[in-house]
Amino acid sequence: MRVFDPHIHMTSRTTDDYRNMAAAGVRAVLEPAFWLGQPRTNPGSFADYFDSLIGWEPYRAAQFGIRHHSAISLNPKEANDPRCRAVLDLIPRYLDKDGVVAVGEIGYDSMTPVEDTVFAAQLALARSYGLPALVHTPHRDKAVGTKRTLDVVAESGIDPGWVLVDHLNEVTVRQVRDSGCWTGFSIYPETKMSPDRMVAILKEYGPERVLVNSAADWGHSDPLLTVVTGNAMLAAGFSEDDVDLVLWRNPVEFYGQSGKLDLSDVPKPEGTFAGSSIARGGS
Ligand SMILES: [Zn+2]
Repeated sequence: MRVFDPHIHMTSRTTDDYRNMAAAGVRAVLEPAFWLGQPRTNPGSFADYFDSLIGWEPYRAAQFGIRHHSAISLNPKEANDPRCRAVLDLIPRYLDKDGVVAVGEIGYDSMTPVEDTVFAAQLALARSYGLPALVHTPHRDKAVGTKRTLDVVAESGIDPGWVLVDHLNEVTVRQVRDSGCWTGFSIYPETKMSPDRMVAILKEYGPERVLVNSAADWGHSDPLLTVVTGNAMLAAGFSEDDVDLVLWRNPVEFYGQSGKLDLSDVPKPEGTFAGSSIARGGS
């Protein structure tokens, strides 16, 4: 099994995590810019963080044979602090960098008017820089937040095929699928979405345009839950090809739209991925 974790915050993970991920089959990661826990008080603090995402963290990942790319943004939570708003002016110079393959994570935290403005501005940046967008949906009021997210995406004029809407669940998956956006699911150890629930969603909707991530960060999370989900898919009757589609080819296709995804040094997997998908209900 080869795995591309399309949403993981390696900044907050240890060297042991990198070692365990590599041993389990994780070959590539996408690290989106996010909130670091301690609120930042000035744009320079973001610049240092963005530099780390495009410099230090790819270097650290490479020690374990893991390819690291990033997505850059002003996250929705800190967008509400007027001291951080000037970060929007810093972002364009990062979007031109080689390892930056998306704008993200953007979207809503508390759904304030400021978040509306900053979300729309960053979707416009994604369009003008020819990059896909990784969109976080709020953990509170998820159905309402997802609907509002899709409205802003539609208003922005961005092609929905360039948008990944993440942190979905059974309640929000259908409306995102119907919008034409890619669907992202974050698998957590105890709360929100588990491997078994993910398998049930895949049985109902199929593996196309589905991305599964661990979203691992400072909180209680597990960077191996992508692999656990792949194994749960196999146990439920999905083929190795289905697992490869969800855990590798879908993220490669989505972020590959940037034209900057470089996986040339990632070893090819052993064996082939023959076999048909199991029967699925729903659509
Ligand atoms: Zn995140």
